[in-house]
Amino acid sequence: MAEKLYLIKVGEISLKGGNRPLFEKRLRGNIKDKLHQYHPRVEKQKGRLYLKIDETVDESIVEKALSTTFGITGFARAYEIEKDMDVLDSLVREILPFSSFASGKGSFKVETRREDKSFSLSSYDISCHLADIIHAMYPGLTVDLKNADHILYVEVRKKIFVYTSDQKGPGGLPVQSAGRGMLLLSGGIDSPVAAFHMAKRGMKLDCIYFHAYPYTSELALEKVKKLASLIAPYLGGTRLYVVPFTDGQLKIRKEAFEDETTLMFRAAMMRTAEAIAKERNANAIVTGEALSQVASQTLEAMSFTDSMTDLLVLRPLVGMDKEEIIETAKRIGTYETSILPYEDCCVIFSPKHPITHPVRQVAKRHYENLNMEQEIEKAVGNISVHYFNPMGEEEEKAAVENGGIHFE
Ligand code: ATP
Ligand code: MG
Repeated sequence: MAEKLYLIKVGEISLKGGNRPLFEKRLRGNIKDKLHQYHPRVEKQKGRLYLKIDETVDESIVEKALSTTFGITGFARAYEIEKDMDVLDSLVREILPFSSFASGKGSFKVETRREDKSFSLSSYDISCHLADIIHAMYPGLTVDLKNADHILYVEVRKKIFVYTSDQKGPGGLPVQSAGRGMLLLSGGIDSPVAAFHMAKRGMKLDCIYFHAYPYTSELALEKVKKLASLIAPYLGGTRLYVVPFTDGQLKIRKEAFEDETTLMFRAAMMRTAEAIAKERNANAIVTGEALSQVASQTLEAMSFTDSMTDLLVLRPLVGMDKEEIIETAKRIGTYETSILPYEDCCVIFSPKHPITHPVRQVAKRHYENLNMEQEIEKAVGNISVHYFNPMGEEEEKAAVENGGIHFE
């Protein structure tokens, strides 16, 4: 079977000293998981990773897989050929038209490393020879050895390796190298971005969405599913737990103090998320809150919701401006879906004048007086689970097999 080759550069993993093999193993596993249907091989050589995959696999598939895998800082399609200058010449002529060189604009350089000192030409000779070929192909390109726009790398080892400037990877650490958390995923802009940031630090995440059908529509649920599928590649696959919470919302609206309804709902969300987290052996809850963005995101309100769970509550966006969050949402491709108009929370559940500076002990007492346990238990018993694989596709079978979750 003919294979194509990708060179993969790893970033911060290299700082991890004694743990490096573990991080690397995780990264290799994560790459293989994404592409498993194509039977890839991920090999390590001289501190680098190489992906080998069936030649017929579409390049855009490999690119999607690698550009969303945390732990990768860059990657490039690479070629391995016999140590023969004629073969090298024709390879370069063949691949450059499909690289950034083909723009014909800007500057370039050839960077040659000769580890096999017995090879007849020196690094300098090889670079000059190839530079001549490139010049003839793209007369508009100039040579710049310091700040080249396009770089052709040639490494002479047992064989000759050739690759052009790499594409950027997302950096960070491989998912599943830093514990497991539950993301509260709404249909908004913020929570998918929060997921991106925590996954970037290696956290494995599943998502929870509180659905109040028919007050929140079927379209709102579809939007959340779409968001889960869009972030799934970054998360290395994810489950979406849909919690039917209409009765819980109605009870809160009927029995809670009006200005505290949002707070009480958030408290119930924490308790529910905690129950699911225990089943999944997760030890943190992640939200998309940012300080002072809305009434329920004041220090007092957040400190109250924290006090409703023993789990660590992480808010990776807490110090970010909306503009910064939007920028990331656009970059990771969730923005266009997040701004679709289906509201995740119906106006009837939002108080006109929400309390902004609750006293934690008082709000806590009010919450306990509501006796939400039964509603939560019922909601949890009726959860539906969707599974999105590491390429972002929903897998029906896995969802059924994994079933709901079981509580004593
Ligand atoms: P987002 O843009 O993420 O929706 P937001 O600015 O609209 O956030 P809120 O609606 O107050 O702010 O929600 C704050 C956080 O609470 C969200 O980022 C999300 O983590 C969580 N959350 C809100 N509503 C839901 C829901 N229906 N299901 C699950 N999580 C939710
Ligand atoms: Mg929202």
